[in-house]
Amino acid sequence: DWSILKGRSILIVDENIKDGTAVKSFLKSAGVTSTTVSNGVQAILELIKPANHWDGIFIAQDLTDIKSEDLKIALGAISTTQEIPLFLMTSQIFFDPENKNGEHRFSAYINKPIGKNKLLSTLTNILAAKEYDLLIQDPENLEIPYPKLQNNGDRNRLIEEAHNACSLNTITSEPDEDQAYVRKRQQVLIVDDSPMNTKLLETALSDDFDTFVAHSGKDALMIANSINPPDLILLDIMMPEMNGYEVCKTLHLEQKTKDIPVIFLTALSESDNEEYGLKLGAIDYITKPFSIPIVKAKIKNHLALKYYQDILKINTDIDQLTKIPNRRRFDEMFDIETRKAKRTGSFLSVLMLDIDHFKFYNDTYGHLEGDECLRQVAYAIKTTLKRPGDMAARWGGEEFTCLLPDTDAEGAAEVAEKIRKTIMELGIAHKASPVASVVTVSIGVVTLNQGDQDGYELLLKHADETLYQAKAQGRNRINQWVD
Ligand code: GH3
Ligand code: MG
Ligand code: MG
Repeated sequence: DWSILKGRSILIVDENIKDGTAVKSFLKSAGVTSTTVSNGVQAILELIKPANHWDGIFIAQDLTDIKSEDLKIALGAISTTQEIPLFLMTSQIFFDPENKNGEHRFSAYINKPIGKNKLLSTLTNILAAKEYDLLIQDPENLEIPYPKLQNNGDRNRLIEEAHNACSLNTITSEPDEDQAYVRKRQQVLIVDDSPMNTKLLETALSDDFDTFVAHSGKDALMIANSINPPDLILLDIMMPEMNGYEVCKTLHLEQKTKDIPVIFLTALSESDNEEYGLKLGAIDYITKPFSIPIVKAKIKNHLALKYYQDILKINTDIDQLTKIPNRRRFDEMFDIETRKAKRTGSFLSVLMLDIDHFKFYNDTYGHLEGDECLRQVAYAIKTTLKRPGDMAARWGGEEFTCLLPDTDAEGAAEVAEKIRKTIMELGIAHKASPVASVVTVSIGVVTLNQGDQDGYELLLKHADETLYQAKAQGRNRINQWVD
C-alpha cells in the first residue's frame, strides 16, 4: 500500500543518468513527483529555494563534486533541510561501523541495483514514521492519516523494516526519534582567559557541538593549526599576553586558518570596538554577559553558513569538464607557492601545456569527442604528478598548467617529458594531426631559481613564451626557458 506516497516530491541527486531515470519512474508509478540534479552543489541550490518543498532526498554514493557523506553533513547544518529524510543509494554493501554511532543521518540505505518494491516500501516506512513523529509533537493535528502507527513501537518497527528491506547492513542502534536525524557534530573552539566563561560556554554548547577550550591566544593558534582544526572560534578580546585582535589577525594571515569563522566575545563596554574587530575579519560579536539561547542561535547560523560556503568553494575551484582544479584555483595556489618560495628560497617550477592541433581534432571527431579527449588528457596529467604538493590545473580551452614546488629545472624537465610521453601513450587517435597519428601536447617549462627575487611576475609569461617556442619547433615536445 503506497497511498501515503501520493503527491509527494523527491529530489534525486545522481550523476549516473540511467540510475536516476529508473528511480524517477519507480517513484512516478506511486504518484511521487521527482526532480533530478546531477551534483551536490545543484542539490543544495535546489534545496534552499524557499518555494520548494521536499519530502525526501535520494543521494547517490559517488558524486564527484562532493562526497555523499559531506552532503549529508551540510544538509544537516542547514535549518530548512535538516529534517528532510535522506536516502543513500549505494552499491557498497558494507558500511564503516563508525556510522552506526548515532552519527548517521541517512534514514535508510538503498542498495543498487535498485528495485521498485524495495524503494517504495522503504520510502513509505520512513515517511510514515516521520508523520508519526509529527503527530506526537502536535496531537491537535489530526489531519495526518496513518492509522497503522499506534505507538512508538510501531514506528520503530517501520524504520527497522526500512533498513532491513534495503540493506544487508542493518542499522542496529535504537532508532529513537532524535538519533535518526543526528548530524555530524561540528567543533567549536572557545578562547577566553577566564575559566568561568569557558566553563559556562562549554556547558551551553556541548549538547550540540564538540567543544575545545583554550585559555590563551597562543594555545588557540596551536589548536587552530592542528590537524583537527575547529569549525568556528569564539574569541575573547581582552586576554593577557596576546589579545583577541592579534589572534584574529594571525589566523587570517595563514591559508590554513583564514577561513575559520571567528566570533568575538566582548564585554558591553567594549562594543565601540566592534567595527575594528569586524575589519580584522571577525564575522560577529557576542556580548557578555552571555544570553545562552542567543549564543547558540548565532553559532548555529554561522556554522550552517560555513558549510554552505565550503561546498560552493569546492565547486568554484574545480573545472566542471575535467574535474581538476581550474584557473582560479591555480592562481590562488600560484600566489601561495611563489610567496613560500620567496620566503624559503626554494625552487618553483611551472609547466604550461597545450594540446597540438586540437582544433583539427574537434573538426574531425566533433565537440563531444573533443571534451572526452580533454578529460583523458587532464586525468593523464594529474596522475603523472606524484608529489603531494604538485598541482595540475586546466588553464582554459585545451591548455593546462602544472605547479611544481621545490622542483629544480632538471626535475621539471623530467616531469614534463613524462607527461608528454604518457599522453602520447594514451593512444587517442588524431588522424588530422600533421604531428603524429595520436593526440600530442607541447609543453613549456620554467623554473624559478633560488634567490631570484624578481622572477615571480614573469614566471607565467615566460612559461607561455617557451610553450610558443615548443610549438614553433614542431610541436609534441618540451621546451625549457633559459634566461
Ligand atoms: P596548436 O597546435 O597551435 O595549439 O593548435 P590548436 O588547434 O590546438 O590551437 P587553437 O588555439 O587554434 O584551437 C584550440 C581549439 O580548442 C579551438 C577550440 O574549439 C578547442 N576547445 C577549446 N575549449 C574546448 C572545450 O572545452 N571542448 C572542446 N571540445 N574543444 C575546445
Ligand atoms: Mg591553445
Ligand atoms: Mg592547441
